[in-house]
Amino acid sequence: MNHAQLTALGRALRLLGEHGEALAADTPDAKLHEVRTDLRRALDLLEESVTTTAPSTRCPEHPNGPVDKAAPDLCLLCETRRRAARRAEYGGGPLPAPQTEPVQSRYGVRGDRPQPQQRWLPELWNGQAWQLCGTPRRDRREAELYLAAQRRGPRPAMAYRLVHEFTDYEVLRVWGTPVRMDIEPMG
Ligand SMILES: [Zn+2]
Repeated sequence: MNHAQLTALGRALRLLGEHGEALAADTPDAKLHEVRTDLRRALDLLEESVTTTAPSTRCPEHPNGPVDKAAPDLCLLCETRRRAARRAEYGGGPLPAPQTEPVQSRYGVRGDRPQPQQRWLPELWNGQAWQLCGTPRRDRREAELYLAAQRRGPRPAMAYRLVHEFTDYEVLRVWGTPVRMDIEPMG
């Protein structure tokens, strides 16, 4: 929108505001016709000022990208990336997303996007999903040593893995075989 358009549009919109203020039960039809003309003029000015199409998604990165109605931000591109990241958590297998709540640990569950600094996350396979099993480390060697100690512990998990968190999550190494086990119904 250039300066002339801004000035004209601003004037037209303020005029509509005045029409709104003056509107009353006894406003004559002639005045209403005038309002309609001014309204159309404001709409024309607005259409001239808007050069881009209305955004199709709520994604700041891809406002006019393809739409995925199921995605929270409606962005198919970002949703595809998020799906790939979720698949990667299962080692690339075609497993569906878990239907149960993720198993809680005192370390919690990591977020959708990594922090900008790089960290190494020790994770264990809890029979359902990969789960953070220790404090994320700034040092890869330290994280490896921690996992080695976990594997030698009294009750080691079925599998461990080391995840590199930087601009995305990347599985660097997997120990053991993550086998998906369904929870037996009680009783
Ligand atoms: Zn996007």
